[in-house]
Amino acid sequence: MAIIPLPQQIEWKSGFYTLQADVRIFIDSTIQSPTDLGDYLADSLRDNIQCTLSVEDASEKPKQNCISLGLEEGNEKLGEEGYELSIHEEWIQLTAWKPAGLFYGIQTLRQIASHSENGQIPCVQIRDVPQYPWRGVLLDCARHFLDKEFIKRYIDLSAHHKLNRLHLHLTDDQGWRIEIKKYPELTKVGAYRKDGDGVYGDFYTQEDLREIVEYAEKRFVTIIPEFEMPGHASAAIASYPHLSCRGESIPVQTKWGIFADVFCPGKESTFEFLEGVLDEITQIFPSEFIHIGGDEAPRDRWKECPHCQKRMRENDFQQEDELQGYLIKRIAEFLASKNRRLIGWDEILDVGGLPDTAVVQSWRGMKGAIRAAQLHHDVISSPNQYVYFDYPQDEQQQKSKPNWMRMTPIETVYQFQPTPPELSAEDSRRVWGAECTMWTEHAPQEKIDEQLFPRICAFSETVWSPGEGRDWDHFQERLQSHLKRLDRMGVNYYRP
Ligand SMILES: [Zn+2]
Repeated sequence: MAIIPLPQQIEWKSGFYTLQADVRIFIDSTIQSPTDLGDYLADSLRDNIQCTLSVEDASEKPKQNCISLGLEEGNEKLGEEGYELSIHEEWIQLTAWKPAGLFYGIQTLRQIASHSENGQIPCVQIRDVPQYPWRGVLLDCARHFLDKEFIKRYIDLSAHHKLNRLHLHLTDDQGWRIEIKKYPELTKVGAYRKDGDGVYGDFYTQEDLREIVEYAEKRFVTIIPEFEMPGHASAAIASYPHLSCRGESIPVQTKWGIFADVFCPGKESTFEFLEGVLDEITQIFPSEFIHIGGDEAPRDRWKECPHCQKRMRENDFQQEDELQGYLIKRIAEFLASKNRRLIGWDEILDVGGLPDTAVVQSWRGMKGAIRAAQLHHDVISSPNQYVYFDYPQDEQQQKSKPNWMRMTPIETVYQFQPTPPELSAEDSRRVWGAECTMWTEHAPQEKIDEQLFPRICAFSETVWSPGEGRDWDHFQERLQSHLKRLDRMGVNYYRP
């Protein structure tokens, strides 16, 4: 039985339970959950037994011929997301402390049932609690637009692997993808770039994004929006040139890379814009955490800009780096006024002014994770040598990618440890988990399945399953069965 990610404790028993058409699902109507969990389970099992099980409300469950879902008060040890699944010969019992736990128990049951023949599934006792609370995937919908249905499909695929954060990279040099009502030029101009003789681009309306947020919430996935600043801002500046130091018009970029024109932190009008955009972002996305990028911001323009130089003199700054620290501090304060916290890429550690509440996402290896945790910042690990899934998986793929992209086969991903061993026990608690990333410069939508799968299956195990006793051979065996499930789900995973 191939369960991915591997549960914390699993004990196979003798005997079988038979899933058949007259099995009833019992669930207490008192369970408060964004998901109608009973119907969700019935839908999930329909493919295995070719019929839809009935869902009934029951506080007293008959212990035969049923699947019973219930919350157990007092079972805090299971935490927000843990569950216990017992498959007996007479009935199936799934319990949790919170609804998210029931949801993850359902994913496990789906996987077990997917192997059933004639509805027979083996008896088992499982107790399962995730290792990390933050288990994320980043989708870059800026470099290539990803359509709404595709994102919903990825919410389902992520949730099935017990991942619970979807980070949407919504703005960059090559495209602005989020409707902002106060600044309509962002999607009139910034959402499109020249592409040969034509144009390439699209964007999400606020209604689209609310629909995505709601869809994700029902699957216990939080959407984390990212608005890049002060760098990777060409699409915004193309829409509103006054946001840059020179104030000159520039195009939405058509090449990949890092560009000199960034937001000008010397002008008050820049802050009015950044806060205006963030104000609408916080209205669309209920997430406590808002990502503001912060990576790869050149200082060239700031050095020659009278507004920036004036800001430096007024604040007694010695280096242009401190201007980014100034920007981050102000933006963090603005977000705090809306009860939100800021996440940034690990460059934000280098610029000063970082408030204690800022969360650091370490991408340039694990050095940022170590430094941030030691400085008592909360940390998300996304080291490029392990979890950058735009990187090639073999020599064939390497030929179509830039040279600097390191080869990252699934075996490397499986060795990833979100918590750096260098950290003390106390500092280790700062590491909330990890995110794998799907940057799309070299991977438009139709290439994403083969970049993410099956590496994301290995990733799910590094963030959900216990770190000790990880066994590559065992994982490979389980993966062979899991690939058959992915076939049925229509995932076009990488085949060596
Ligand atoms: Zn400036």
